[in-house]
Amino acid sequence: MKKIFFLGECMLELRAIDESTLNQSFAGDVYNSAVYLKRCFNSINSAIVTALGTDAISQKMRHCFVQEQLGTQLVFAHSDKVPGVYYIETDDQGERSFTYWRNDSAARKVIDFYNPTVIDELASGDMLFFSGISLAVIEPDTRAIFWQSIHTLKAAGVKVVFDPNYRARLWQSVEETKQQYALAFQCADITLPGVEDLHALYGVDSVEDVLAHLSDYDINEVVIKNGPESVLTMVDGQLQRHTITPVDNVVDTTSAGDAFNGVYLGARLSGLPVCEAVSKAAKAAAVVIQQPGAITAKAVFNQAMAD
Ligand code: ADP
Repeated sequence: MKKIFFLGECMLELRAIDESTLNQSFAGDVYNSAVYLKRCFNSINSAIVTALGTDAISQKMRHCFVQEQLGTQLVFAHSDKVPGVYYIETDDQGERSFTYWRNDSAARKVIDFYNPTVIDELASGDMLFFSGISLAVIEPDTRAIFWQSIHTLKAAGVKVVFDPNYRARLWQSVEETKQQYALAFQCADITLPGVEDLHALYGVDSVEDVLAHLSDYDINEVVIKNGPESVLTMVDGQLQRHTITPVDNVVDTTSAGDAFNGVYLGARLSGLPVCEAVSKAAKAAAVVIQQPGAITAKAVFNQAMAD
């Protein structure tokens, strides 16, 4: 059975339904990817690496991981931290704004749980995925241990996958981000950047610019996303442009890239060629942006993918 680990943070998502009612769910970039991978490729072991607390919300979140059939062997319980929370508000024009409470979340402590047994379990995987958000969330004083573990895992044959997913407010400075991203690009076997994310950091404006920027690094599989525009891939030295059919009725673009990443990686782990992997990933992303929230209801998602 193929196995992929997704390292990062899942949060409690609160969404206003009306003046006095909040809808509660769980979301976070790596978690979203793990869910969509599992839904499309049930035979792959899709596992989360994170820290929760011992509180009621943490228990519900862990239960939700299990419901989605995700591996939880590396979901740790911190004795005195709790999960992060975010609140989504939509104004009269349909514009969304996000408020976060995540500065002291349990997930920031995940690297504190690393030990030789944890590294052995990670080394048993085929891939380890982390994002720019994962990098921003782990505490700066645990980064050295994180990077050391990445090198150990690469030596053990684990493929390292990185999506830059840049969130400025999670970083102290652009310099700090660039320094961490350079380390990530140096060790990545696969990267799945979006043009918008890298524009903010490196001034790139197109998929071609992103590819040129990444040519400084030795990354075997580069998959560049650009919203409804075409996806560019460079895999084993072969360049391909993949046409995306724009969705007319976009409801909520949250987790488009996450769904794309999860389904793309599931397809590649299943041995599908790049063009089929992109096509399936783009279909999943298109389904997700026609529904509200990061995680589309399972029945709705599965039905749309089967159509
Ligand atoms: P991110 O969420 O990482 O910023 P993008 O916005 O680039 O990612 O979108 C990821 C993928 O979602 C795209 O490559 C595409 O397949 C799909 N997608 C995004 N927006 C649209 C759209 N308007 N119509 C169709 N597909 C879209």
